[in-house]
Amino acid sequence: MALKKICRCGRVIDYNQTFCNECEKIYQQERAIANKHYDKYIRDKKSTAFYNSPEWNKTRAYVLGKYKGLDLYAFFILREIVYADTVHHIEELRENWNKRIDINNLFPLSSSNHNVIHAMYEKDKEGTQKLLFSLLKRWREEYE
Ligand SMILES: [Zn+2]
Ligand SMILES: [Zn+2]
Repeated sequence: MALKKICRCGRVIDYNQTFCNECEKIYQQERAIANKHYDKYIRDKKSTAFYNSPEWNKTRAYVLGKYKGLDLYAFFILREIVYADTVHHIEELRENWNKRIDINNLFPLSSSNHNVIHAMYEKDKEGTQKLLFSLLKRWREEYE
């Protein structure tokens, strides 16, 4: 007779199984959720440290100065002069950590247009990223 044991739910299972099929499914789901939270926690810690680093403060100040303090979305799209106080990662930190201080990935925005851009990402991230890259290119071609 094969050896049997009791699963955590009380069902009888084979000795070499850890859980019954039902509990195995639940266990896998729990593990996936735990991994996701862990990844997010590490990522958040990493990005908070980055945003507080001298490296970022220097880069951020450089980007704001490079575009004369202008919000380039307001400048090119809305045809308004609005000052930027935020530097946005076109390819986001979690998406491309290697581009965190890449000047060609950084876009100056006012905080209200920063919200607008993030709302646009929700709808069409790739299209919005293309637009922002093209505006940086326009600045290089027309104003540098
Ligand atoms: Zn079970
Ligand atoms: Zn942003």
